[in-house]
Amino acid sequence: MTRLILAGGGHAHLSVLERLAQNRSTGGATGIEATLITPSAFQNYSGMLPGWIAGHYTLAECRIDLRPLAAAAGVRLILDSVAGMDAGRHTLILASGLAMAYDLLSLDVGSETDTGGFEALGGRLLPMKPLDDFFARWPQLLAQAQQTRDYRLVVVGGGAAGVEIALAARHAFGQAGIDGRVDLVASASGLLPGHAAGVVRRAQRCLVTAGIVLHHARASGETDGIALDHGTPPGTPPYPRLPAHAVIAATGARPLGWLGSSGLGLDANGYVAVDAQHRSMSHPQVFAAGDTCARQDVRMARSGVHAVHAGPVLAHNLLATIAGEPLCSYPPRPRSLYLLATGPRRAIASWGPWSAEGRWVWRWKDRIDRSFIRRFSPEAATSGSCFD
Ligand SMILES: Cc1cc2nc3c(=O)[nH]c(=O)nc-3n(C[C@H](O)[C@H](O)[C@H](O)COP(=O)(O)OP(=O)(O)OC[C@H]3O[C@@H](n4cnc5c(N)ncnc54)[C@H](O)[C@@H]3O)c2cc1C
Repeated sequence: MTRLILAGGGHAHLSVLERLAQNRSTGGATGIEATLITPSAFQNYSGMLPGWIAGHYTLAECRIDLRPLAAAAGVRLILDSVAGMDAGRHTLILASGLAMAYDLLSLDVGSETDTGGFEALGGRLLPMKPLDDFFARWPQLLAQAQQTRDYRLVVVGGGAAGVEIALAARHAFGQAGIDGRVDLVASASGLLPGHAAGVVRRAQRCLVTAGIVLHHARASGETDGIALDHGTPPGTPPYPRLPAHAVIAATGARPLGWLGSSGLGLDANGYVAVDAQHRSMSHPQVFAAGDTCARQDVRMARSGVHAVHAGPVLAHNLLATIAGEPLCSYPPRPRSLYLLATGPRRAIASWGPWSAEGRWVWRWKDRIDRSFIRRFSPEAATSGSCFD
């Protein structure tokens, strides 16, 4: 028996579950005792989060139930979190205190929001990740906003997530009749870094139309809001301040803390260093995909697109390792399509230098997102159709 542990129910592991189920139904490789360790029975889909905030989706529409997928794959599901790892001893320590030994390990545990510099905000701070926490806390924020006059929400982070969340929040406030204001703070790297100038212009227009004030500054947390550092010389504070009832941090990713003491080879930022086959550079019995890994051979953005597309390669490589067969590589495409929701049922498409915008882009995004969820629905898992 090979003890295979899948840590995290992330995007890439959905493909691994799919492949293990296929393998089971076709009587493929045997002798695998597989376990999935993840804190929740549901995998929330970040691509639909802005649409959920804006009120276009129910929670049930934007999450995947991992239980039928694990059952169809013959994988034991443990609802717990990895809290520590000893790569030398091939052991994981779970938050419950349980120690789990593996022969082969696959990590798809994602990343956290980097909230460094915002600690002073205490309970006013709402980080984007972990996503489960965000989904749980957003309704509370909305309820608080409904009971507060001149409610002030600040979103920090000028990347795609920050822009989408600010626009979605503004739309939600409008729908709920909330007397509120939304500000967006983008740091020195600007609005939508990595996207073409046309995409940035379209997003700026959407922000203006929605009445969102955009600030270009370095933000830090204070007890009752945000301080904005516009790069003025030292000794010239106080910095301008943005009072806020709540601050959403969409400030970029950081690796999960326990990786630091795992013994795994990490890159300079603390992510698991992997090769083109998504195999750990230091421990050949460990694979990693999605936000938690750092490819050493190419520059690859941390995005759901890569986590999803690396999934089938990861699945192949795990089974090939067990069977002693050759591994394959995941070649990231030079550019990915991003569809950014802009509040009402509209979206911006960004693909290299090309961009477009409108209701039809939203319908396109909606079709893609819904079909992703449908592919991993309980009906598809039990009928086997999601594994076609
Ligand atoms: C608002 C928003 C919108 C986005 N939109 C897009 C988009 O349109 N397109 C795009 O490409 N990217 C998008 N992204 C980025 C995308 O969310 C991530 O890149 C993607 O989720 C990474 O997938 P993953 O599988 O690595 O991790 P995740 O999807 O985060 O999955 C990680 C899994 O691991 C579990 N886990 C976490 N910690 C532990 C632990 N200690 N032990 C065990 N399990 C654990 C989690 O519960 C989860 O199931 C968006 C991000 C945000 C915040």
